[in-house]
Amino acid sequence: MKEVIVTGDRPTGCLHLGHYVGSLRNRKRLQDEGKYDMYIFSADMQGLTDNAKNTEKIRENVFEVIKDNLSVGIDPEKVTIFVQPGVPELTELTTFYANLVTLSRLKRNPTVKDEIKQRGFEESIPVGFMMYPISQAADVTAFDATVVPVGEDQIPIMEQVNEIVDTFNKLYGETLVRPKVLLPENSNARRLPGTDGKAKMSKSLNNCIYLSDDSETVRKKVMSMFTDPNHIRVEDPGNTKDNPVFIYLDAFCTDREKYNELKEHYERGGLGDKVVKEYLYEVIEETLAPIRERRKYYDEHPELVEKIVKEGTQKARIKAKEVLSRVRKAVGVEYFES
Ligand code: ATP
Ligand code: MG
Repeated sequence: MKEVIVTGDRPTGCLHLGHYVGSLRNRKRLQDEGKYDMYIFSADMQGLTDNAKNTEKIRENVFEVIKDNLSVGIDPEKVTIFVQPGVPELTELTTFYANLVTLSRLKRNPTVKDEIKQRGFEESIPVGFMMYPISQAADVTAFDATVVPVGEDQIPIMEQVNEIVDTFNKLYGETLVRPKVLLPENSNARRLPGTDGKAKMSKSLNNCIYLSDDSETVRKKVMSMFTDPNHIRVEDPGNTKDNPVFIYLDAFCTDREKYNELKEHYERGGLGDKVVKEYLYEVIEETLAPIRERRKYYDEHPELVEKIVKEGTQKARIKAKEVLSRVRKAVGVEYFES
């Protein structure tokens, strides 16, 4: 059986370096290996679960997120790119799966718990938000996904997805495919911290370097990054472990010899933050320059992006319909065969 890859991004803002090292870099690599059927989508429905009063934000960002993927080198000839609301079959699958999950299990999910805290929901949690792991189970199973490339925060969500798959198959017979999570090899890339040193670079925390930032903006953000607060004089020994500048270097720098050299020098003392940041800026620019170049092309051709998404969504829907019909038959509610 051919391996199938499915991943998505919430259109809640432009994509940043965390997305790149956490997921997009793997997507591009897997696409280039050419062995997989691949689907990438804008998770509008998931984005709406905590933005129901702010639909404009979702609308504005759908095409930005798609362009971010295309700019990284995702090739629409090889990958099916679609938008979630264009595949209503996902919603029906979600309804079937919702009956297989308890509220207490959803409440125990550590990622959901963190996000509830971060969004300040307290007791007023939208039901749709609470059940987004269930809709994510629909997103991946609707395409028979075998591999899902994601960052570390998605592990608990994908565990829950697999529980749903197992419960469904046990109850109704072998129907759904069980997906595997693919994390970045580099452990610092699994959860890239923010430029402010906070645990996660995140759209909602304003601590991001975006794939669409211009060179000058990237420079300013890098030069004002949080480093080791105890590294006051150049000659002081510095900490590289909790230092986002070194964490980014580890995640991006391909010249490992140079990286190790800088790391040792900084730890020993005698290497200033400014010098390391200048180098980090160069390293990030190496990644971002070609991305920016491709993005410019797609920015100038919005009709092409629209065509890619329209055709991709039609194609995705055909596959999702097939899986939904299988699911209906398994549950025993496919009354009228089409
Ligand atoms: P939101 O704040 O709206 O949840 P987000 O920044 O968390 O947005 P998502 O769209 O939820 O982004 O995540 C898309 C993918 O990117 C997921 O696979 C997630 O694991 C990965 N990802 C997001 N942020 C990071 C990060 N800082 N480091 C590594 N991977 C990340
Ligand atoms: Mg998220």
